[in-house]
Amino acid sequence: MTETGRGACLCGAVRFSTFGKLRAVSACHCSQCRKQSGHFWAATDVLENELELHDADNLSWYVSTPGYRRGFCKTCGSLLLWKCEASDKISVSAGSFESPTALKLETHIYCADKGDYYEISDGVPQFEQGCK
Ligand SMILES: [Zn+2]
Ligand SMILES: [Zn+2]
Repeated sequence: MTETGRGACLCGAVRFSTFGKLRAVSACHCSQCRKQSGHFWAATDVLENELELHDADNLSWYVSTPGYRRGFCKTCGSLLLWKCEASDKISVSAGSFESPTALKLETHIYCADKGDYYEISDGVPQFEQGCK
């Protein structure tokens, strides 16, 4: 399999490689992503079986809503992963990938829930809710 991306958390305790096609990046403005990331959260996704985690013992998972969990580094707190249990895909933080990423931001989602302290003005399509 060909590696399509690789990355790590801030401290490097959790590293990953992706194999297979990465989705265009979505920036999620929902309140959960804003709280966990500190702003909005930009992520791609990949089939879960095409994500290889190294040192997954250093990951901690938080179930934010039943059926959904968020993975972050136990040491540095970097938000890395978001998983919907009903999906065969897993979302991976765009900001955790090494450059060059070949990724591109193509959608803003859950804009109805965005913070009141910023405007989205980059011309990228905006969706009130998710876009799938
Ligand atoms: Zn870390
Ligand atoms: Zn979100």
